[in-house]
Amino acid sequence: MANSKPKLNIGLIGTGFMGKTHTFGFAAANRVFDLPYDLVLRAVADRTDELAAAAGAEFGFETSTGDWRSIIDDASIDVVDITTPNALHKEMALAAIAAGKHVYCEKPLAPLAADAIEMAEAAEAAGIRTQVGFNYLCNPIMILAREMIQSGELGEIRSFRGVHAEEFMADASNPGGFRVDPAGGGAFADIGSHALATAEYLLGPITAVMGDFVTAIKERPDGKGGTRQIEVDDIGRAFLRFENGASGNIEASWIATGQEMQHDFEIYGSKGAILFTQERLNELRYYNASDPEGRRGFRTILAGPEHPPYGRFCVAGGHQLGFNDLKAIEVQGFVQAIAGERPEPFNFRAGARIMTVIEAIATSSKARAWMEL
Ligand code: NAD
Repeated sequence: MANSKPKLNIGLIGTGFMGKTHTFGFAAANRVFDLPYDLVLRAVADRTDELAAAAGAEFGFETSTGDWRSIIDDASIDVVDITTPNALHKEMALAAIAAGKHVYCEKPLAPLAADAIEMAEAAEAAGIRTQVGFNYLCNPIMILAREMIQSGELGEIRSFRGVHAEEFMADASNPGGFRVDPAGGGAFADIGSHALATAEYLLGPITAVMGDFVTAIKERPDGKGGTRQIEVDDIGRAFLRFENGASGNIEASWIATGQEMQHDFEIYGSKGAILFTQERLNELRYYNASDPEGRRGFRTILAGPEHPPYGRFCVAGGHQLGFNDLKAIEVQGFVQAIAGERPEPFNFRAGARIMTVIEAIATSSKARAWMEL
């Protein structure tokens, strides 16, 4: 029987790592959730016709193009989804907004806070809906962690430690591609943005930062047989003060040898503590300080149907969600926001806020001084 829901036509720009992940997200969300629209993989763009056609066939898009502007000009497309290198997000998003499309864009929204704010303002003026790809916030275990903090279960929150570390740039012979483009931001903008989004999602606004950015690998191959000087940070760290009185520290590194996906946090409150590591994304370690003496210790809470929306994927606990499922949950929130059923879960304004905090950390690192936000 034909699907009677109105169609929401998707135009994807960029078919690399994230392009594929977003496609999984759309395909799964269409089936796992009872969405207000039927999501249609309408058109896909990449740098050349060949790249776009190959991905279009593999991912199941109806049409493909080597010119991303065709996606913007296609009147049938409702949502433009941007999964291209960081420095390209702004131009593509502003063009999509000007054409009246809803826009889904990967993080960092734009490497410079002023650009990200311009994008948020344009979206608000146009009245379209937006979403930034902070998929880790869509984890049912992350939602549980926030509930435990906000309900007072952990008492007064005193301390936060956060890290997003990976090793994909640790090899100095890796040219680095778009990630070492000074216009694209460094490690803190690229992956520290995830860690900061998690910090503010869980604890609320950060009010002051003291940063330290380091370029550890100062020279990389330029891809043309020579070398080039690297300006962007490989490691960024910051001390943080939160509006709720907590203090914290955060680290972003893309040269953390051996680390595949360390998106981790530790939160310590007066009544308990929680620990999380993304490589075990279905688990939350919980310490309850009121357990009787001799019985205290961290226990592991396993994600299950009692942690929505886990149950939409699987009726049994412990069977585990994966990274692509988080994208499906992200898509669900965005599509519901487009239908007016809920506020946007993480819109361009929220994405711009993260870039504002990162810029303050970068400025603080240069000035060797605390910065108020
Ligand atoms: P990638 O290099 O794997 O893919 C980028 C794609 O964009 C490629 O297919 C490339 O050919 C295409 N592209 C480049 N220039 C283009 C142009 N002018 N027109 C059309 N297509 C073009 O990169 P990636 O790892 O998928 O990263 C893409 C974005 O996603 C970045 O902003 C990155 O920061 C973000 N990202 C987010 C997460 C997450 O967990 N949310 C993870 C990785 C990357």
